[in-house]
Amino acid sequence: MQNKRVKTKIKNIKTRAKSKSYYEQALSLMPGGVNSPVRAFNAVGGNPVFMKNGKGSRIYDVDGNSYIDYVLSWGPLILGHAHKQVINSIIKAAAKGTSFGAPTVKENEIAQLIKSAIPGMERLRLVNSGTEATMSAIRLARSYTRKNKIVKFQGAYHGHSDGLLVSAGSGAATFGVPTSSGVPRGSVADTIVLPFNNIEEFESVIAAQHKNIAAVIVEPVCGNMGVVVPENKFLENLRTITRQRGILLIFDEVMTGFRFCFGGAQKIQKVKPDITCLGKIIGGGLPIGAYGASKIIMDAVAPIGSMYQAGTLSGNPIAVACGLKTLQLLKTADYNKINSLCAELCIAMEKIVKNRKKKIIINRFKSMFTVFFTDKPVMNYDLAAQASAKKYAEYFSKMLANGIYFTPSQFESNFLSFAHTKKDIEYTIEVFDRIITHS
Ligand code: PMP
Repeated sequence: MQNKRVKTKIKNIKTRAKSKSYYEQALSLMPGGVNSPVRAFNAVGGNPVFMKNGKGSRIYDVDGNSYIDYVLSWGPLILGHAHKQVINSIIKAAAKGTSFGAPTVKENEIAQLIKSAIPGMERLRLVNSGTEATMSAIRLARSYTRKNKIVKFQGAYHGHSDGLLVSAGSGAATFGVPTSSGVPRGSVADTIVLPFNNIEEFESVIAAQHKNIAAVIVEPVCGNMGVVVPENKFLENLRTITRQRGILLIFDEVMTGFRFCFGGAQKIQKVKPDITCLGKIIGGGLPIGAYGASKIIMDAVAPIGSMYQAGTLSGNPIAVACGLKTLQLLKTADYNKINSLCAELCIAMEKIVKNRKKKIIINRFKSMFTVFFTDKPVMNYDLAAQASAKKYAEYFSKMLANGIYFTPSQFESNFLSFAHTKKDIEYTIEVFDRIITHS
């Protein structure tokens, strides 16, 4: 089967000498030489690659090497790098001024478009990041319910606000720091952490503590312990139990919003949360976030209600223009294209794994996937953590050396974009086959 497939020339990256020297310089300027921890490649070894530009599915480093990019700025670039219409919308907006600190018409337009795609967001507030969105959603839930405790799931990452940085995935999982130093005990005293996909434990904790629990926050498809999909009825059961107990259900759709369809994962999963958080794709690659809910819940937010939340640059006109254009293009996009391309890639990789008798599990949902070096199905954080980080690191470095940029940690999701081509996929499968065969 493999022989028939690709005749693509496999290339090797020649040198990354310039990246190395920029990294050495960066080490004297920023902690670990980076502005966000996973970028430092600590989990996989070697130096981070300094990028210069991107186009479509490709990114180009400072040494002139090109890579097929499956990180896509950690999810936002669903249309690919430097999409012409998106870039033009940024240029046009920037020419009119960078920020006003006063309302603009495009904020209405993006809010309207988001509301039309996620009807539960009857009212929404734009913020500057996913972290701000989830942090504000928690404050809102506490304000609305007049209760304090929250439930999150082990290995789920909801940004780096103090109360949510407990047993967090993503970079926190990568570095084995489930609870960051500098977070006072008091800040996490009201955070209950439960295993994902375990409804029995959830039910018993809720039964015992529901009087004090304001909200449950969940990634409807987890991306931050690597991709982990909710088991049959897990989300439906969360919905039923929280509703019965007067607890708000928050869907953190920072990663999943507009990733699988024009709307949230909630549209596909047919579960309606009380509060939805967005980020990443709604900014098209510029900093943005949003949280929203029914009018009655959002009326708790200032200036109508007493829950305070604000932002100097919230609704920034350039970020909004970029996000709006991205969403307008996605509205008529055929998501089936990226979903089926991702399936094609993962199924081919699975066949290789089976033929070569390797201990690898590929978790995927639509256009998100993670390669785990384990033979046990990965249904929660504990199982993800059992996968071999060492083998992943070797695999990552070899893929990189062949011009394929996967996430520099196993506890992350890879993504497909509308710019990825069949050729990209075929090349990736070919390289994967060579690397896995010789591993
Ligand atoms: N929630 C989820 C599900 C995320 O994946 C992330 C970031 N990866 C965040 C929240 C935090 O978003 P940001 O990095 O924009 O603050």
